[in-house]
Amino acid sequence: MSAALNMFGVHRVLAGDLHMEDVALSEIAGSFGTPTFVYSRAALTTAYQQLDNALKKTRNGKPHLICYAVKANSNLAVLSVFAKLGAGFDIVSGGELRRVLAAGGAPEKVVFSGLGKTRDEISFALLTGIKGFNVESESELRRISEIAVAINKIARISLRVNPDVDAKTHPYISTGLKNNKFGVAFDRAIGTYQLASSLPNIEIAGVDCHIGSQLSDASPLLEAMGRLVNLADKLESIGIPIQHICPGGGIGITYADEPNINIENYVAALEQALSSGGKTRDVELLLEPGRLLTGNAGVLLTKVEYVKPTDSKNFLVVDAAMNDLIRPSLYQAHHEIVMAAASKDAVSRIYDVVGPVCESADVLGRDRTLAAREGDLVAILSAGAYGFVMSSNYNTRPRAAEVMVDGANAQLVRARETIDELFRGEYLVNLC
Ligand SMILES: *Cc1c(COP(=O)(O)O)cnc(C)c1O
Repeated sequence: MSAALNMFGVHRVLAGDLHMEDVALSEIAGSFGTPTFVYSRAALTTAYQQLDNALKKTRNGKPHLICYAVKANSNLAVLSVFAKLGAGFDIVSGGELRRVLAAGGAPEKVVFSGLGKTRDEISFALLTGIKGFNVESESELRRISEIAVAINKIARISLRVNPDVDAKTHPYISTGLKNNKFGVAFDRAIGTYQLASSLPNIEIAGVDCHIGSQLSDASPLLEAMGRLVNLADKLESIGIPIQHICPGGGIGITYADEPNINIENYVAALEQALSSGGKTRDVELLLEPGRLLTGNAGVLLTKVEYVKPTDSKNFLVVDAAMNDLIRPSLYQAHHEIVMAAASKDAVSRIYDVVGPVCESADVLGRDRTLAAREGDLVAILSAGAYGFVMSSNYNTRPRAAEVMVDGANAQLVRARETIDELFRGEYLVNLC
């Protein structure tokens, strides 16, 4: 069990208390309350370095950049861990750019993705001096050019092309098929690059795609990479040389028993694609991983409010809910759920672990065998990516606290919201 738990960034010590690095989760609950997201700095660092080292080794002196996809977990402390490691960032809003800057991230390593960039976001990004825009339509291209001219800046761009590859993942997180809203259709890519090269203050930098998330098999990613390389070759042949190629993010993690994409093999296969046909392509390799770097570096720590047996099911009612972690409700996603501290005298039963929110979809895990009593602590694993960032205030529930563990230290990195904060900015109307 201990070895298996290690994969999730946590481990059990002696008496059965679950630890993150050298801190017992029960200690964190005591200091900061529940529900609380807990992240391990060591686990974040290990995930980043594993990928970075694989890239260094395979690229053998040729340039690469890991642009961490901020939307997976945008806490400033998490961003600053990656910034200190030299990461770049993939952002999807002006707000995320502000976060990256506040966390000490380097603007010249930021790429801006997303299909709805506003005028304000584009000019802010240009003034900040980001590495480039991943452009998703002709209209966006024209808009970026217009703004760049107006403020006298050069905009570096890549097209996010839609390679029409089936990522074979959940439809809500699949983004690379023809009928998705994302990217420029593959057969229009050349024409759109030609348009880009005719527009003022636009510098063509790269080709980009992102076909989906939580992939447990690399073949769709490599198929997409192959298409990007072909596209780059075609562009070069018509006088549009490319400086970087980016197959996006999407590398899955293990939530239960899904197979892993082997990082070293994946990176080696990307490198192979870059030298296919015996050609050497002198480009920078960019990656945009989100989940891979944070998913298994975080847990959601929660407390049992009630043990509720019924005729047909036993429910474990905890103080975390779908507003804190929506993945199970939204994608039928599986998260391992374990006792954070051993419960004395508790009987093992099969439970549906549910939150207090008034929706039947508010189930965090079904049919889980747990020995728990009222007041016990439970850890929902693999909650470091698309956890807190997707949380809401539904049912007027304050969003959870966030804590980062670093060795024997546990530090609050986001205070639990207060109820007052939840209706600050609301007004009573003058009714008589
Ligand atoms: C969300 C996103 C990513 C990261 O996806 P993961 O599956 O978390 O690696 C990368 N690139 C773009 C454009 C994204 O929108």
